[in-house]
Amino acid sequence: MFEIEAIILRESPFKDNDMMVTALSNENIHSFLAKGVMKIDSKNKVLVTKFNKVRLELSRGKEGYNLRTGTLLNSYLHAKEGLTSLAILDFISEITNKIVSKDEASVIYPILDKILSLLDEGFDGLTLALIYFAKVLTIAGYGLNVDSCQICHQKEAITALSTMDGGFICENCFDASIHLKLNANELKILRYIFKVDIDNFAKAVLPKEESLHVLNILEQFALDTVDLNLKSIAFIRRIIK
Ligand SMILES: [Zn+2]
Repeated sequence: MFEIEAIILRESPFKDNDMMVTALSNENIHSFLAKGVMKIDSKNKVLVTKFNKVRLELSRGKEGYNLRTGTLLNSYLHAKEGLTSLAILDFISEITNKIVSKDEASVIYPILDKILSLLDEGFDGLTLALIYFAKVLTIAGYGLNVDSCQICHQKEAITALSTMDGGFICENCFDASIHLKLNANELKILRYIFKVDIDNFAKAVLPKEESLHVLNILEQFALDTVDLNLKSIAFIRRIIK
């Protein structure tokens, strides 16, 4: 038997009243069977609810790990209210489940915890979604160079983004046929979300219209470069206009 502190990422019905659960901890991505949690009177149901932060006791069974018991640490209840927040959670869930591997658990766990806490406090969901997007891409090895021109490495006169090269482009190197021209605010947003550290996630609320544009750019980048098709972004676009 061993104990983990984790955030529930996924639960799916298994058989009878059981569920298969995936949870992210500081050390790993854990999969385990939670017996009887679909029964109405199950005490453990709250321990396997998506995006709950929990302390769990797991034991090794014949075919993998089983949930024994546990404690609820935080349900981030306010983060689960309202359409905007739900759209953001849907996105966080999709990108985490599709791209984060167990080797990255120790880096992504504190970031996810922080993002959920801020969403729970009512901080701007779109800003948090963009920050999380940038952090997950970076951790997975697909970060963008937002410090200098990706071609000539100079820091001045940045004017565009090359998703193919993975970074900013300066005026001298700009080629309209392959690079994406961005306005000053969009460049600032991209720089901010890739550079901001965990203690400053709530430092600024990003402007909505340009944030949605940056979201589209990263969506296309994820599709082209990482082959990551994020369906949940369409939902965010429908909710946040
Ligand atoms: Zn250049």
